[in-house]
Amino acid sequence: MSNRIGFIGLGVMGRPMARNLLKAGNKLAVYDLSPAGVAELVAAGAAGGSSAKDVAQQSDIIITMLPDGPDVEKAVLGPNGVLEGARPGSTLVDMSSINPIVSQKIGKACAEKGVEFLDAPVSGGEPKAIDGTLAIMVGGEQAVFDKMSPILHAMGGSVTLTGPVGAGNMTKLANQIIVACNITAMGEALVLATKAGLDPEVVFNAIKGGLAGSTVLNAKAPMAIARNFKPGFRIRLHEKDLRNALLSAEELKVPLPLTGIVQGLIMSLMNEGKGDWDHSGIVTAIEKMAGIEIARPAEAAGHLRIAAD
Ligand code: NAD
Repeated sequence: MSNRIGFIGLGVMGRPMARNLLKAGNKLAVYDLSPAGVAELVAAGAAGGSSAKDVAQQSDIIITMLPDGPDVEKAVLGPNGVLEGARPGSTLVDMSSINPIVSQKIGKACAEKGVEFLDAPVSGGEPKAIDGTLAIMVGGEQAVFDKMSPILHAMGGSVTLTGPVGAGNMTKLANQIIVACNITAMGEALVLATKAGLDPEVVFNAIKGGLAGSTVLNAKAPMAIARNFKPGFRIRLHEKDLRNALLSAEELKVPLPLTGIVQGLIMSLMNEGKGDWDHSGIVTAIEKMAGIEIARPAEAAGHLRIAAD
């Protein structure tokens, strides 16, 4: 595989994804507003670009991995952006998690310039980005999907076409609802168990193989128990995803009662200055209400704080 790929957005996710494209034998030109990610990829063999436009001029395929819709609009549609440099016949794959409406807007602007477009957000976090085993949910035309499939498989373990442009990000919103509600439920469960006098690690190990077990539980319970809230996936990015889910839900007249509650908890954490914590830190909103932290009990195991009369 030796394609000329431009990669824009070298944060927590973009850096390992770009590395996997290099490992697969592609030629890479990279750009980020912050020089740290660019320096890391240049040291690994990529060419450094001076702008999104510059990277697009050097590439047949351009990948963006940016925080939110306005960032993608700026990098693609703005001055010195991708569409000033991309030539007709090239392909833009936006792998950021953004509002599906913005994906459609960008897809339309690309089509007007003869540039093919896919929205292809991912799930799996930094560990799966490093392993190249992300779940990639794609929106766009079948022919463009087929052409990009080998490149997406260099970063993903599962790559699924879910519908037309925007469908990838609508699928990602569904994914983010499940993840956020799951972490919140985990917080309630482990706070209850801890307050009852149990060791949350023992509880986690006891339940992870049963019906309550999940990828979210396996990844996030050990972080909460170890009090390790280093991102990973930032709370402010999850707030953005739930906001986009609630906006779509309003337009479609779909009540999302659980998502609304979790969004409120996430906003309270952002007001406490925890926006850059990992989203496993959602449990701290539940802990605050209960006045207890998920941690191994100081008292000897075997003491249950509830008892029959
Ligand atoms: P991040 O904040 O770590 O990285 C984003 C990068 O984009 C930064 O390096 C920033 O400097 C750069 N950037 C912003 N605007 C730019 C512009 N106009 N031009 C060039 N560079 C620009 O974010 P991340 O965690 O890598 O997430 C990226 C996307 O992937 C988000 O949409 C997020 O929701 C999604 N996502 C993240 C995870 C995760 O676990 N971190 C998992 C799945 C999906």
